[in-house]
Amino acid sequence: MRNSENGQNGSRSVQFADGIPASDRQWEAIVACDAAFNDRFFYAVKTTRIFCRPSCKSKEPRRDHVLVFGKVGDAIGAGFRACKRCKPTGERLPDQEWVHQITAYIDSHLQDDLSLESLSQISHGSVFHMHRTFKRLQGVTPIAYIQNRRIAEAGRLLACSGLGITEVAAKVGLPNVPYFTTLFKRVTGRTPAEYRTANLNSEPRERKDEHESSECSAGPVDAGRY
Ligand SMILES: [Zn+2]
Repeated sequence: MRNSENGQNGSRSVQFADGIPASDRQWEAIVACDAAFNDRFFYAVKTTRIFCRPSCKSKEPRRDHVLVFGKVGDAIGAGFRACKRCKPTGERLPDQEWVHQITAYIDSHLQDDLSLESLSQISHGSVFHMHRTFKRLQGVTPIAYIQNRRIAEAGRLLACSGLGITEVAAKVGLPNVPYFTTLFKRVTGRTPAEYRTANLNSEPRERKDEHESSECSAGPVDAGRY
């Protein structure tokens, strides 16, 4: 009785199941993002623990970090996660989860230059599809969401930190102070200075604090329906 590598009774090629280094031909396909090789193999990157289709446009890995697998299941079995960009498992990320990833990104990058283009790049979707899906699930456009979050965070900083208005404006990605002031007033009905006076936390130790205090709960801005 032979115990062949292909396994007549379900056993797999152990070596291949654990991944093998890319052959020259496979490596060329990876570098060229050659879709003709899709479904012929998958490649995993040891450093990121993510695996991709040959056509994936993600950053070219170092060849010695690459392991090649014949089947999705083997790559998963070896502890790799499917790339969200090329989706080697063939499953689309559920829209809700996708939008959640985008809002989480916005929430943690308010200071950055956020645009539809940058979000579309980060979320690996077209601007049109991203905009439409976001609006459908979130109820507001991505740009309105960004603005809401910026104003809400500005309100929190004005009430809870000792930062000056210029610093607050910069911290929420609206470094043009006149524009920030106008927008803030349009949303909240108060200028940043008026808002601060009305909501300043009365705890003296927090007023002295130059940095934001996580204990402060004063003055959330209701910008949700803006
Ligand atoms: Zn990929």
